[in-house]
Amino acid sequence: MERVVELQIGKLLLQGIFERSWEAMIIIDGKNQLVAVNPSACKLLGSTTEELIGKSILDLFPCSLNQPGEENFAEVCIQHQNGSIQTIEYSRVEEIVPEHSLLILRDITNLKRAAAEELHLQHQRIQLFSEVTLKIRQSLQLKEILQTTVTEVQRILKADRVLIYQVFANGTGMPISEAVLPDYSPILGMEFPEEVFPEEYRELYAQGRVQAISDVHSSEVGLAECLIEFMDSWMVKAKLVVPILQNLKSKTGKDQVCVRLWGLLIAHQCQITREWTDFELELMQQLADQIGIALSQAELLENLEELVVERTANLQQEINERLEVEAALRRSEEQLRLIANGLPVLIAYVDKQQHYRFNNEAYQTWLGLSPTNIYGCHLQQVHGQEEYQKIQKYIEIALSGQQVVYENDTLFQDGCIHSVNVTYIPHIHEQKKGEIKGFFALTSDISDRKAIERMKDEFISVVSHELRTPLTSIHSSLKILATGKLGNLSSKGQRMLNIADEQTERLVRLVNHVLDLQSIQSGKITMNKKACKATELMIEATQAMQMMAQEHGVQLFAESVGFVVWADRDYIIQTLTNLLSNAIKFSPPESCVYLSAKMDKFIIKKRFKNKKDNDYVTFAVKDNGQGIPDNQLENIFERFQQVDSSDSRKKGGTGLGLTICRQIIKEHGGKIWVESNFGVGSTFYFTLPAIINERSDRHER
Ligand code: ADP
Repeated sequence: MERVVELQIGKLLLQGIFERSWEAMIIIDGKNQLVAVNPSACKLLGSTTEELIGKSILDLFPCSLNQPGEENFAEVCIQHQNGSIQTIEYSRVEEIVPEHSLLILRDITNLKRAAAEELHLQHQRIQLFSEVTLKIRQSLQLKEILQTTVTEVQRILKADRVLIYQVFANGTGMPISEAVLPDYSPILGMEFPEEVFPEEYRELYAQGRVQAISDVHSSEVGLAECLIEFMDSWMVKAKLVVPILQNLKSKTGKDQVCVRLWGLLIAHQCQITREWTDFELELMQQLADQIGIALSQAELLENLEELVVERTANLQQEINERLEVEAALRRSEEQLRLIANGLPVLIAYVDKQQHYRFNNEAYQTWLGLSPTNIYGCHLQQVHGQEEYQKIQKYIEIALSGQQVVYENDTLFQDGCIHSVNVTYIPHIHEQKKGEIKGFFALTSDISDRKAIERMKDEFISVVSHELRTPLTSIHSSLKILATGKLGNLSSKGQRMLNIADEQTERLVRLVNHVLDLQSIQSGKITMNKKACKATELMIEATQAMQMMAQEHGVQLFAESVGFVVWADRDYIIQTLTNLLSNAIKFSPPESCVYLSAKMDKFIIKKRFKNKKDNDYVTFAVKDNGQGIPDNQLENIFERFQQVDSSDSRKKGGTGLGLTICRQIIKEHGGKIWVESNFGVGSTFYFTLPAIINERSDRHER
């Protein structure tokens, strides 16, 4: 009986709980039909018990009821009787009584809405933050950035005052930007002493500490009394302080960076105390970071500006210097042009493609060629085919890097032919030695000099001819006197006669030499060239000089060779006898003089590299005489040049022999030179064109 009572009490208790519970409860059978609904569930679903009993739970929560054995918690969205959408969270207790389950329902519509709103708010905040950041970044002016920051923070946080406080190196500081509501006094620009901001605070902030004080008077915060007083004087009840840190490039390491506390971003709440939210904290922190970046950028910009100013100054200086150099160049070019135009010579520069690149004004006055018109023109185009062919070989020499001098006859603007002396000086590349860039051409009018030379030659010729006749008769008379047919002379008289005879002979030689030279140089003589055996020429010359050699006690040797040369026999014998006579004259008694010849392409090529590769015979007259000093080796081929001026008297020379030899060899297209070892001996060389494969029996004697 007691057991029955217990059960009844239990049933009533459960029923009471079911009926009075705040939780909405539904009992469903195995077919998902509602068998019991408590008032909370009726309220939640907006229906009466009668309306709900017997309904399938699937009608209430379509497709969403979890099956037995599945997850016990679930969420469904249903439409309330009043039409609103509800989010219901439910849990299912299976087999609460056999084949029956208990569903406990909870309306989480408001919770859900609050979460969604929070999400939306967050989204808005992020957007807000990016907008502010963008505004800050868009400005390069630090002042503007700071002002934007305080204005925006004040707007978003709805704080009473937002300021940026710059910390100076000595611990003092000053608000340099501020956004404050009109009800509160601004503190912008006020300098605060070090005590307001002690060093330990500065150190903490330098490490990145953020201070969020909801009530400055709260004992938990533990602000120093003086600080609280200070806060009160500005009516500050709550404050949020975030450090602004600046990255500085370390002076020691290249890429090392050190952090410095530059200032603080501060928000004040004056009217009431205030709990600062995480979002507000985060916003302030991120904006402080942005300011830090802006500070570094501003510093960079400042450095850049300094660099630009410095570079601009340097550039200006460079430009001024360049302008000065250019002006100096222009002046010197002007002067050069004035000189070039004032000189009575033709001056030109020709590039390696043979185009004129500069001509002075004499081209206009002498030849009627305007420098501007011929600039860039080819030499052939300016001078014509015929003239160009004449000068081409000299152009080639100049462009091969050798200076060349030649004489030419040129038709001037006045209609007369003028003799000119032309010098081509190669222009060698300064860096690339050996590369020829072109050549300078200097042409001087030598017509006057030529006319004087001609007059002089004619004069010499006339005088010499006039001297020759009386000299010959004096010489003959002296010879007759010497025979004694006209009476014997005393020995002193005989000696005087010999001297007179010797000197007359010398005078005859001199006159003959002068006439020879004059006639060869004036071109009055034409060389009668034929194929001649070199040996025959050498033997004949040696025989002619045999007597003289004996008189000097010198032995003559002539080599026998098989070469044939193209030469005027008499003139070459004259050349050889002249060289032999010199060799004998300047050799000591009992010495030897050698005459030889050889075919030597190497010497020819080396000495005449601009000539075509013809065969030449090189003759050599070698003695062991007194030799010639190095500085005289070229001179002695000039007129009246002797190593020792007393030679003409002592050795009976005229100083014209070698000049005549050079002229004769030149007429043969050959070259003459001497190699000597002073005090040891000399060798005179000359070349003549060789004839190859010429049979000796076809030569004339
Ligand atoms: P010269 O009639 O005076 O010999 P040359 O023109 O033949 O005139 O020679 C000029 C000068 O060259 C000579 O006076 C002499 O000083 C020098 N000379 C020529 N040949 C020789 C030689 N074989 N040895 C030394 N000196 C020489």
